[in-house]
Amino acid sequence: MNSLSITIAKDVGFCFGVRRAIDVARKAGKQHGKVAMLGDIVHNERVVNDLKILGVTVFEDMENIPADMPVIFRSHGTTAEIWQQARTRGLTIIDATCPLVNEIHVAARELEAEGRQVIIIGDPGHDEVEGIASQVSNPIIIANQQDAGQLQKIRKAGIVIQSTQFRENVNSIISVLISKISDLRIINTICKPTRNRQSQLRELAEKNDVMIIVGSFTSANTKRLTAIAKTINPNSHQVQGPEDIRLEWFRNANLVGVSAGASTPDEIVVEVTEKIGALPL
Ligand code: SF4
Repeated sequence: MNSLSITIAKDVGFCFGVRRAIDVARKAGKQHGKVAMLGDIVHNERVVNDLKILGVTVFEDMENIPADMPVIFRSHGTTAEIWQQARTRGLTIIDATCPLVNEIHVAARELEAEGRQVIIIGDPGHDEVEGIASQVSNPIIIANQQDAGQLQKIRKAGIVIQSTQFRENVNSIISVLISKISDLRIINTICKPTRNRQSQLRELAEKNDVMIIVGSFTSANTKRLTAIAKTINPNSHQVQGPEDIRLEWFRNANLVGVSAGASTPDEIVVEVTEKIGALPL
């Protein structure tokens, strides 16, 4: 036991959409024995392995899913083309899309119906962004301020935003787009769980000597949280689990803040916190 005071962010671990999707997958595994999923449900190895035990098999391609196996569509949404393919193949679809992602789909279609060029602020190639893009024809995807700078002038456009984007990145993009588009409508679709998580992270990074962010190195969301924390507190570190904790980070420290990416299971956060609390300082 040491004298470190550890504060865990109020919202850590799975966001509501991911919790819901994992729940759906668990129930489906129990009910059907075997169910298919296109890609991992979250970017977290432990969760994926737990679901495997319950009969959830991950497939990379729709064609390889056996005809008698129901397929789960994940929380961050699925492209219109894949929905169509699954229907054409007659597969039973179990839809675990987060309702907040569905709202982004609706918003994108609404902007297009208003005759606007749809712009998505998000990471190209990310499943959620691909799902949003598939709702409209010819969307433009902008990942950063540099992309925004290359855009031609547009008369009438509308913006939706990937649910997990950081406000700093979005603001920097919009500051450029505003000078290029005369009739611009912005629908802020960064979801509330993401906004809460980001503001808690900023506050903890400010108030603590050391900031620990728990999550897989394959999770873009966790990496972003770490990047933001580092800009506020250089003594911020991302760990995948207790094994990554380094004693030297905590020398001369009293206060430790802990946050986690939206795909990190609660028990890993607990394990990391226990390890910090037991460091021989
Ligand atoms: S990050 Fe937000 S929109 Fe995405 S799954 Fe979680 S709650 Fe839903």
